[in-house]
Amino acid sequence: MPTWTAERAKQWRQEHREELAEYAKKYAEAHKEESREYGKRYREVNKERLLAAQRLRRGTAKPSKGTPHGSGRSKAEHARRHYVKHRAKIRMHRRCYAHQRRAKGARVSAEQMASVMASNNGMCAYCLVAPATAVDHINPLHRGGVHAENNLAPACRSCNSSKGTATLLELFMKPRRLVTQRMIAR
Ligand SMILES: [Zn+2]
Repeated sequence: MPTWTAERAKQWRQEHREELAEYAKKYAEAHKEESREYGKRYREVNKERLLAAQRLRRGTAKPSKGTPHGSGRSKAEHARRHYVKHRAKIRMHRRCYAHQRRAKGARVSAEQMASVMASNNGMCAYCLVAPATAVDHINPLHRGGVHAENNLAPACRSCNSSKGTATLLELFMKPRRLVTQRMIAR
């Protein structure tokens, strides 16, 4: 007996085309009420969507004059205002995203990020005197460090930018770095 492949199935359907059509017709007749009811319900539930699709097909779609959140502003203006309002958050997100991309698929969840930021009482892990504003890769990504929770430390803006791509060892070996000075001063 030949194996039942898609090709065989297609052939079978062709050979039994009339029988199948007959069966479908009988089925439709037997379930007429049911299917009419179903169609009615479907059209009711999807009224808006179906009407929009119809307008689109007929080319009578109304030009969209809606504004985001009914604000009366253009989409571009809305996007600009959104960016200005959430600038810090967006930049933070972009930075994290860039890091993740560079880290080749490694992921740190939002919870893990928050837990890193909350560690050390929310203070910078390098100078210990300023509140942390971002997470720093202890072993920098540029130097082969991984984007993982155990390679992250809370850092203030100043330490984060002065540490840059230096490793912890280099940080201590460069005495003129602000971070080191601050660390020694403690
Ligand atoms: Zn610091």
